[in-house]
Amino acid sequence: MNSESQDITDEDITENIKDRIEGKNIDFEPDDSEILKLNTVRKTLYKLYSEKLAQFRRIRDKSTGWFIYYWWHEFDLLEEILIEKRKRLERKLRDRLQFEENNYFFVCKNCNDQNIKYNFDEAFELNFRCPNCGGSLEAQDNQKIITFLKEKVVLNQKTKIAIDRKT
Ligand SMILES: [Zn+2]
Repeated sequence: MNSESQDITDEDITENIKDRIEGKNIDFEPDDSEILKLNTVRKTLYKLYSEKLAQFRRIRDKSTGWFIYYWWHEFDLLEEILIEKRKRLERKLRDRLQFEENNYFFVCKNCNDQNIKYNFDEAFELNFRCPNCGGSLEAQDNQKIITFLKEKVVLNQKTKIAIDRKT
């Protein structure tokens, strides 16, 4: 992909990639006789676009009435985007951790389904009886989840974000 100042269409990008991989035994479409389909390139471009790593402008072709899409990359933003993602993940993990630390749950030992759990108020309302089987609801030890989340927070902080910029 080019920078913003040079026009390139998705068709051109597809042809460029095909030129570059010629004779290199690379096949993006193993189930197809084609090496690379325009549709695959378009899908990839939209994925990049949705992650803010590519942009396009469209112009209507006066003779055909179809839109022509000109694409350019925003790879300079990659580092920033990854840092933002890491921050978002950290916020999520910390929220969940706080939730687990502030809430403990009651589960039915008979049903033994960890997905069905009740907070204290709910368990109290149920008289500490399982609405499924009538077994007793017991407090769940969520220490394992807490440890797991804490490890994830550390791992996330340790993840290095370094972009190797080859031009
Ligand atoms: Zn039960």
